[in-house]
Amino acid sequence: MAERKDTLQVIIAGAGIAGLATAISLSRIASIPNIDIQLYEQAPELLEIGASIALSPNGMRTLEKLGVYKALTDEFGYRGPSGIPQIFRHWKTDQVISVDTHTDVPNPRHHTTRFHRGHLHAALLEHVPRESIHLGKKLIHTEADQNGVLLHFEDGSSAQGDVLIGADGIRSAVRKSFLPDYKLRFSGKVFMRSTFDASLVEGKIPNLPSDSMHWWGPRDNFFASRLGKDQYTTVGAYDDPRTAEELESSIAWDQSGNIEFLRERYKNWNPTIRALTELTPYTNLYPNFAGDALSTWVFGSRVTLIGDAAHAHGGAFAAGGSLALDDALALGLAFRHVFGPQTSGRSFSAESIKKALGLYSNTRQPHTARILRIVHNQIDKRGAQFTSAEEEDEALVARMRSRPNTEWLSEHDVEAAFAATLEQAEASSAEASDQVNASESTEPVPEPSSGTTSNTSIQFKDSKL
Ligand SMILES: Cc1cc2nc3c(=O)[nH]c(=O)nc-3n(C[C@H](O)[C@H](O)[C@H](O)COP(=O)(O)OP(=O)(O)OC[C@H]3O[C@@H](n4cnc5c(N)ncnc54)[C@H](O)[C@@H]3O)c2cc1C
Repeated sequence: MAERKDTLQVIIAGAGIAGLATAISLSRIASIPNIDIQLYEQAPELLEIGASIALSPNGMRTLEKLGVYKALTDEFGYRGPSGIPQIFRHWKTDQVISVDTHTDVPNPRHHTTRFHRGHLHAALLEHVPRESIHLGKKLIHTEADQNGVLLHFEDGSSAQGDVLIGADGIRSAVRKSFLPDYKLRFSGKVFMRSTFDASLVEGKIPNLPSDSMHWWGPRDNFFASRLGKDQYTTVGAYDDPRTAEELESSIAWDQSGNIEFLRERYKNWNPTIRALTELTPYTNLYPNFAGDALSTWVFGSRVTLIGDAAHAHGGAFAAGGSLALDDALALGLAFRHVFGPQTSGRSFSAESIKKALGLYSNTRQPHTARILRIVHNQIDKRGAQFTSAEEEDEALVARMRSRPNTEWLSEHDVEAAFAATLEQAEASSAEASDQVNASESTEPVPEPSSGTTSNTSIQFKDSKL
């Protein structure tokens, strides 16, 4: 590519968890001497909204690598006293049926931690210059060509840059600009979530567990946990038979729900859950949507997606926050590799940008596609019928005991995954260069090995990867 620029202008659409983490990662991990990062967020104000969010060890380690130390403190996040990340109890008997455990998490600060989303967001926000965040900028459409990216906002204004990172959530406008036919699928569940002062329930319910609890019932679950900053959360759910389109037009994300409905729905569950629903002061509704894995994460050489925009997994395994943080770290590593201080003759050309985005997506896409496969399988399997309550209960207990092991997700090492991607890209590049040399040679040469073992979607031609 011919063009050379002194400064890499990065635009991030969306200043949620992924957007803020990306800004931090690009400034701290990528260490590009001349980088300008601007974020465009639709919300007119950055308020502490949302309900509870959990981070697994992978997310906690990434927060530490990003330097967001406040979020690792006991004040900001809550880690249960047992050190067990997930405890699964029977809805009626309250018996513990199974647990998840940490396998290789020696530092207790990296144990699964639960936050109010607003507090996690606020901790990230402290590391992003406020003047780089442009509020009230709802992205409507974006374009990209060899020369750059152009964003159009609802208020009629526009912005330009060299790279666009779509961190604009599950209904991403960036994704829609490049994949207009992409559709989300309603999982059939609406979650009823609430966060409130822990003093409303603690000391008021006999034997209220101090650890976070997942109670599983035949059709729905109930979750309760203390959060950081003396908050508490309860989460119930119900089936809604309506279609995605009907849901979208009738329930807004975060819309307030009917607390009596929550209480009625759980009235036959064990006394701890009944007491929790009685003391839960309000509830908000969160219809649950998921989308298929995308065929590519790189559009027009200069645009990529991150967080929920890239993998609409509907919050399965409470992995959304951790995945978004790991995405951001992988992006920072990819940009450091291509543009970082050690790079000689740095050029912010379209080709080098594409190379960085390719390394990022090849690190993250296969990992997140795996979780999306599980999510869609689960949606497809809904609605099993049973001939008796006993049979239903046996199936429930069997389901609880045979939950898939998700350590590959919760203890994922994104730096190791990035190193493996790099190695694979270098091997592909060396192989391609051998083939070129062989075809140019006048000597007879052995047959080149058939195919490559690469599972990457982008083949790199540049041998300097
Ligand atoms: C207000 C809110 C509350 C949430 N509460 C919870 C919760 O309680 N528990 C939980 O597990 N998950 C919650 N989530 C989702 C959770 O944050 C994500 O699943 C995960 O953290 C990945 O983050 P993300 O940054 O990819 O997406 P998000 O956190 O959804 O962030 C996307 C950001 O992009 C902005 N945006 C969207 N469209 C546009 C546009 N067209 N132009 C410009 N900006 C745009 C949004 O306002 C938001 O700030 C919430 C998301 C939001 C936006």
